[in-house]
Amino acid sequence: MMIVLRADCSLKEKAEITRILEAGEININVTETGGSTAFILMPTPDDDIVASLERHGGVAEVRRATPSCQLVTRDHRAEPTRFHVGHALVGPDTLTVIAGPCSVETRTQMMEIAECVADAGATMLRGGAFKPRTSPYSFQGLGERGLELLADAGGRFKLPTVTEVMAPEQAALIAQYADVLQVGARNMQNFSLLQAVGQQHRPILLKRSPMASIEELLCAAEYIAAAGNQRIMLCERGIRTFERATRSTLDISAVPVLKQLSHLPVIVDPSHAVGKREWVPPLAKCSVACGADGLMIEVHPNPEEAMSDGRQSLTMDQFSRMMVDVRRLAGAEGRQDHAEGSQQSVRA
Ligand code: PEP
Ligand code: MN
Repeated sequence: MMIVLRADCSLKEKAEITRILEAGEININVTETGGSTAFILMPTPDDDIVASLERHGGVAEVRRATPSCQLVTRDHRAEPTRFHVGHALVGPDTLTVIAGPCSVETRTQMMEIAECVADAGATMLRGGAFKPRTSPYSFQGLGERGLELLADAGGRFKLPTVTEVMAPEQAALIAQYADVLQVGARNMQNFSLLQAVGQQHRPILLKRSPMASIEELLCAAEYIAAAGNQRIMLCERGIRTFERATRSTLDISAVPVLKQLSHLPVIVDPSHAVGKREWVPPLAKCSVACGADGLMIEVHPNPEEAMSDGRQSLTMDQFSRMMVDVRRLAGAEGRQDHAEGSQQSVRA
């Protein structure tokens, strides 16, 4: 349920409405709709509360049907969302590049990769410690030890870190180690997980399920926002189609569509979409040209020996070369380069 406040609703009236709702243990999310302030109410209040809201002078309208997503839409916020993760700015004025291995494996591996991707201009370091694997017999990640190695490498090379949370009970622990919590594609509609990460004070990278529509992705983001966390990056990582030549099909049209519907930053992960390293750089370039606010790229010092997703991981040389191209493209659009050590435009 949503109540729209009158344009002349006074502070005193707002406080009264809030008191009525708090007494009924109704959670409020403040939003904008069509230029008016509105409250989204969860759960739906009982009939007595609804009746007192309907009578209240500060309330213009009680809408029984709330849109399935509101907080993540342009109706809520017309301007694109920008936020910092450590020193890295995320948003339309820059290019976020999250790079690193599929899985954290060893300290040496993490240090080597972090140094290379930082030098090449990546803005964040990724690495999975809790891995969602299709087979239970595949490498499942190093767990908490992996979080430590990721945090150490990120700290050493001044890169904020991104890692996946697979279960609600892991959220608080992982938030102690990592700067961004990733919700993986397989968990996009794990609603308790979305609520749990929504309660953490860490930005979220939400990956689109290969089976989800754009609307379902936005509704998943709405769960996180409604739980109190609006620092969300939406990530397109390929959807399942009839095509078998690539691991998934990169839905590049999702980029402009999401950017029109939502104020949230949009990141593209071409690595999981195509599944083969030689096709990652062209799709990375096309994503930037098409308006993506950032990229997520898998990189490994020795992809043939990676514990997971080696076939789609770039070597460090390939990553550095790709970065020259994507930074040039981003610079040509006037985006600022927020890579460590360089705050100037990348146009030069
Ligand atoms: C990953 O980023 O390592 C991952 C498992 O990706 P996805 O959830 O998109 O499959
Ligand atoms: Mn992977």
